Amino acid sequence: MSFFRLDKPVQFLKGVGPVRAEALARMGIVTARDLLYHVPRRYDDASTIRAIADLEVGTDATAVGRVRSSGVIPTRKGLRIFQAVLKDDSGMITCAWPGQPWLERKLRVGDLLLVTGPVKFFHGRQMRPREFAVLDRGEEDTADEVGGTGHVFATYPASDEVPQWVLRGLFEKNLDLLLPDVVEEEYLSADSQRTYSLRSLQASLETLHRPTSLEGVEAARRRLAYDELFFLQLVQARARYRQTIQKQGIVFARTDDLIRPLHDALPFRLTTAQARVLREIYADMGSSRRMNRLLQGDVGSGKTVVALFSMLLAVEGGYQAALMAPTELLAEQHLRSIRELVEPLGIDVYALTGQMAAPDRRATLDALREGAASLVVGTQALIQEGVEFRNLGMVVVDEQHRFGVRQRMVFGDRANPPDMLIMSATPIPRSLAMTLYGDLDLSILDEMPEGRKPIRTLLRYPSKREDVYQLVDAELEKGHQAYIVFPLVAESDKMDLRSATEAYERLSEETFAHRRVGLVHGQLSSDVKDQVMRGFLAGEIDVLVATTVIEVGIDVPNASVLVVENAERFGLSQLHQLRGRVGRGATESHCVLIAEPGEVAAERLKIFRDTSDGFAIARADLRLRGQGDLFGAQQHGRDPILRFADLSLDEGLLAEAQNRARSMVEADPDLQGEDVSLIRRLLDHRYAERLKLFSVG
Ligand code: ADP
Ligand code: MG
Repeated sequence: MSFFRLDKPVQFLKGVGPVRAEALARMGIVTARDLLYHVPRRYDDASTIRAIADLEVGTDATAVGRVRSSGVIPTRKGLRIFQAVLKDDSGMITCAWPGQPWLERKLRVGDLLLVTGPVKFFHGRQMRPREFAVLDRGEEDTADEVGGTGHVFATYPASDEVPQWVLRGLFEKNLDLLLPDVVEEEYLSADSQRTYSLRSLQASLETLHRPTSLEGVEAARRRLAYDELFFLQLVQARARYRQTIQKQGIVFARTDDLIRPLHDALPFRLTTAQARVLREIYADMGSSRRMNRLLQGDVGSGKTVVALFSMLLAVEGGYQAALMAPTELLAEQHLRSIRELVEPLGIDVYALTGQMAAPDRRATLDALREGAASLVVGTQALIQEGVEFRNLGMVVVDEQHRFGVRQRMVFGDRANPPDMLIMSATPIPRSLAMTLYGDLDLSILDEMPEGRKPIRTLLRYPSKREDVYQLVDAELEKGHQAYIVFPLVAESDKMDLRSATEAYERLSEETFAHRRVGLVHGQLSSDVKDQVMRGFLAGEIDVLVATTVIEVGIDVPNASVLVVENAERFGLSQLHQLRGRVGRGATESHCVLIAEPGEVAAERLKIFRDTSDGFAIARADLRLRGQGDLFGAQQHGRDPILRFADLSLDEGLLAEAQNRARSMVEADPDLQGEDVSLIRRLLDHRYAERLKLFSVG
């Protein structure tokens, strides 16, 4: 392992002894580099900071001033209030922290304080800081000057042990010594910096610690964001290389013997998006590299025909093609719709699932081995031991998020790996898809077939539940069916399960006693679950009470209303998935979200109500929730995968990083060249551990 100068432990820096080094380590700061990359979490300038004299009662504001006096004041009710008078060049204001007398030990006269909070009227103007930071520790007689206009105040993430002013002191003493050490880690030439409009690493880190303008801070953030995105893409570009370019791909020859007749027989015209995506797929399948592609498209965007055309291209070329669905039910659904489309062309579609009777199963297995079967639709049974194909050329995996990464890689490990098309009905923003699935190529169906009946989405308070049930009953009266969905965030959550079960009892015995009501949830055995779902599918159940197990793919055109209880507990994308269960038939459908008043007022549910485009909803979800929890299990400890990059802002930067990483790997897969040796060292040394989870394959 080769070392960089910034790998030295913080203990060797000025102002850091053994005790402070341990305190820093508890914040995750172990090396000089860790400290240098410990950058402020917020910046304030004249655009956000008010002069103290201008603070208006009734507003929420940020100010900076020195503590002139302070003390704890008891109230008659026994509450103890810490108060400090802050002063800047313009005037003074009292800040009050009710119930926090212990602040007396933390804040001193002379401290330079940044405060944010509401300004109230209480014996004169008074601020109640929600947030504060000691920017600097001065003496009692320190002048009131706080930096003046044009000054940018930076606030670091601090801890009780290592407060703000200590961190600032550390940077004052060490920044100039550390910055020259950054140069040996600069992997972007001056030329590349110009090409991507990025600043140097050294200048960027200096700016983040010594900001002079918010624009400068943003430019610096962008540089560090690029670094993160680039190295992540580099890891994924190598995984992609191993799975696609390095593999001997099949060059599928298109004869149009099957594709043309299917085109002519379709009862509709392909959407522009379907045609575009098919061109992407045909080009990929016709090349000598192996296809490993993710097809994203909202529920109902018509992924099945796209999958079918792709499979037919393989069959035209004399290969077998398989479609794998996550459940028996979905496999059956696909089987039905695909049979309908290709049997007229004289092609038999075979099935392979776990529940098949032994003789049927054996017949399919024989046909697959001997090559009599060219198209097969099934479940995970397709990848079980004992399933042999004569010449499998193409595999479509539906609803990939239900399968683990390993299952999607299974085919890649074969001697002659087939081309892969992985389909997902969970729209996510392109930037997130590129980050999570950077090893795959991406095709997006961002258009819906015409003539879809819109779904009316309504927000209702729990107090209006009876009205909602009346709406449901009116739909049932017309012969339609309904879903009522309860949250069950963790499959093991007993409380949630109980409330869903109790609601089911109430609904089936009281509200909808005159209807046929069914219940499905994740704790039921798959046999029982299947039986209930089949009952609903067959119209033998009117109201299906369910937890989120109905989320994926199930298609009951007669269902015209969906009610979601505790809607506030669902992510927007999840709600969108649920809403996709209705609106599949000829009549207008309803989606009713029941949520507490505060939640109904909140922006997110309104966005959901007013937006039908799944990609737009996913972007809103990303913006509102932040990217943090979207990485889920891929998060490495407390160190986020992306600290500087913001997937809702940096899509362009990400595309550049991906292009550069991919062409670099294509030119030099093992990164052995002299020109990339620094990149290789940085990858192994700084990023390998953090990005381990992304190096699939
Ligand atoms: P999903 O993307 O959710 O898998 P499907 O492939 O099941 O969507 O398609 C949903 C419905 O839309 C199906 O009934 C299908 O036949 C129909 N469909 C697909 N493409 C078109 C199109 N271009 N025009 C009209 N209807 C289409
Ligand atoms: Mg589908």
